[in-house]
Amino acid sequence: KSGFVAIIGRPNVGKSTFMNRVLGQKVAIMSDKAQTTRNKVQGVLTTDDAQIIFIDTPGIHKPKHVLGDYMMKVAKNTLREVDAILFMVNVEESIGRGDEFIIEMLKNSKTPVFLVLNKIDLIHPDELISEIEKYKDLLPFAEIVPISALQGNNVETLVNVISGYL
Ligand code: GDP
Ligand code: MG
Repeated sequence: KSGFVAIIGRPNVGKSTFMNRVLGQKVAIMSDKAQTTRNKVQGVLTTDDAQIIFIDTPGIHKPKHVLGDYMMKVAKNTLREVDAILFMVNVEESIGRGDEFIIEMLKNSKTPVFLVLNKIDLIHPDELISEIEKYKDLLPFAEIVPISALQGNNVETLVNVISGYL
């Protein structure tokens, strides 16, 4: 099994930290230098049963007028061409304009979208249920997976969930 997975989310939600966690140091260093959506960061994860190519999409959260029509097209094509989309949010923060822009872009997506609630280490476990409630009706998510990219909680589960869709 193999497939392409795009990671999308507003700045500081933990996309690079997640890439780092699953792929190792090198990729995150690249991702900090690459500041345009054109320089997509790709890293390949090989597990026992799958090969997953991750694509970090650092610029896609930006509103249309900032991104420009060309970049908008590039972004949408990227999301169309991948096998799964990880929409990452910071579980500790409320839904912002950057998130709403992404949600709008992902509406009617034929590619399965996984909601990744990151930074669960910063909230009480009881809060997680109400956070999931806030998000679950925004899009028809294929899966909702809470993780801590920093501490590694549930990251392996997320990889297994992704593999299940490839
Ligand atoms: P990006 O802009 O989406 O690529 O976000 P980064 O990966 O650069 O992370 C932004 C900040 O959030 C950094 O200071 C990370 O250490 C921190 N961070 C990322 N994931 C987690 C997490 O699971 N828990 C906590 N507490 N901090 C995190
Ligand atoms: Mg980053």
